[in-house]
Amino acid sequence: MSRAVLCTPLRVEQAALRGAGYSMRVVHTGMGPRRAAATAATLSRNADPVLVAGVAGALAPHIRPGDVVVATEVCAGTESALRFPNSAAELPARSVEVASAPLLAGALRRLGLTVHTGAISSVSRIGCGLAGSDALAVDMESAQLAAAGTPFAVVRAIVDTPDYPLWQLGTLRRGVTALRTLRACAPALELWAAATGPREVLLAAPRSFCAGVARAIDTVDRALQRYGAPVYVRRQIVHNAHVVGELQQRGAVFVDEVDEVPAGSVLVFSAHGVAPAVRRDAGAHQRTVIDATCPLVTKVHSEIRRYAKRDNTVFLIGHPDHEEVQGSIGEAPDDVIVVPDVDTARRVAPRDPSLVAYTMQTTLAVDEAEEIAGILRDRFPTLSAPRTDDICYATTNRQRAVRAIAREVDLVLVVGSPNSSNSVRLVEVAQREGVPAYLVDDVTEIDLRWLTGAARVGVTAGASAPPHLVDEIVHCLGGLGPVRATESRLIDEDVTFALPGEVV
Ligand code: SF4
Repeated sequence: MSRAVLCTPLRVEQAALRGAGYSMRVVHTGMGPRRAAATAATLSRNADPVLVAGVAGALAPHIRPGDVVVATEVCAGTESALRFPNSAAELPARSVEVASAPLLAGALRRLGLTVHTGAISSVSRIGCGLAGSDALAVDMESAQLAAAGTPFAVVRAIVDTPDYPLWQLGTLRRGVTALRTLRACAPALELWAAATGPREVLLAAPRSFCAGVARAIDTVDRALQRYGAPVYVRRQIVHNAHVVGELQQRGAVFVDEVDEVPAGSVLVFSAHGVAPAVRRDAGAHQRTVIDATCPLVTKVHSEIRRYAKRDNTVFLIGHPDHEEVQGSIGEAPDDVIVVPDVDTARRVAPRDPSLVAYTMQTTLAVDEAEEIAGILRDRFPTLSAPRTDDICYATTNRQRAVRAIAREVDLVLVVGSPNSSNSVRLVEVAQREGVPAYLVDDVTEIDLRWLTGAARVGVTAGASAPPHLVDEIVHCLGGLGPVRATESRLIDEDVTFALPGEVV
């Protein structure tokens, strides 16, 4: 089994990290590209994981002494290339990507450190700046040590910055601060080393965007094109921080209530639907209202209206604080009773037990919702049920797909935001299969501890999570060792919904 190597160019760096009690093999490389290249040539025979840790200078003005820079790529500075023009061993031909950087940076941030991620450039002399470089920091060894082994990572604690140059009073104090920071990095470096190794990644399919989410995002996108920014959106268009952030950058303005939307503006309702009262308010003051409510949520609204017209009490199985449920209640506030769990189902008391019906929130866990419905059916023999399932096809398919892969893996990662009901349900479904499962908004939230010993990792994404976030996770895991990714497809989805007329 390979044992990770911790490369420290300076003795003081080695002392700072050795004192932290490493399980890694600590190698003093010596300072500068020539010594680093010699060390790389020796270490490369074993091809063990290599982590470079030491101090460095920052090039970017926002970085402070004592901060940490984690390399997303390392490259030889132009100055260094000129100095060693003929040695392939001393210089990488091109920049080397460090794909695991977000994971390492996340582990360091959880230790309370201030961490920046970006390129680190290696030069041949102390104090050699890189005017015009995009790199965040400069060292003298990383580019050469990139050839020492794989996986590879670099962590540098900052001593000098553009505001605090090296040859200035206070450098010694800043050096001590940087070494203390380096020492504080120790637990995260250990975690990185422990998480390295080959992996299988099993991708659940279907995963990520459903037809309702795609339609809602497309609606805002087209509204921005047609009407120009700002386009107001009541609540999050879909429950995903990345989607909301990207639309905000393009000119979407998210508000809690319609009274925050100026007269004459364009307003979009989110995919989760709204109560009729909200719809009425929105139409006032010459606002252009575009409804991006998912048609499958609209179906639940229609059911509630239909049952309420027949004087039924409607049990709405769902989470009372979820936007979709709040919008659905608004269709018949005096006739709907929210039933969030089995306990409520056992004791709920309608005004007439012979006139009852139920509907469901579209994004529930299928098995839990069915258990609640079963209790209601037992208690109320005349209970009316929806003609077709309220839990939507996308929720059902994603839950079935994650359950299938959960049985095959050591760990399940679900991409989604914490307020995404269907994403949270995917975590619960996987956990019920007896496997550790975690919700992450993106790759930076993956804890390296979860990956230690997890040779088979299942990945899926909630219906509101963009697919590229899954790709980024797979790519990042590849920075910890070779990854074999396969997809486990349960069913093909071909559902699409027409866009609202206002944006067609
Ligand atoms: S999860 Fe289901 S109900 Fe919600 S937007 Fe997607 S398709 Fe519509």
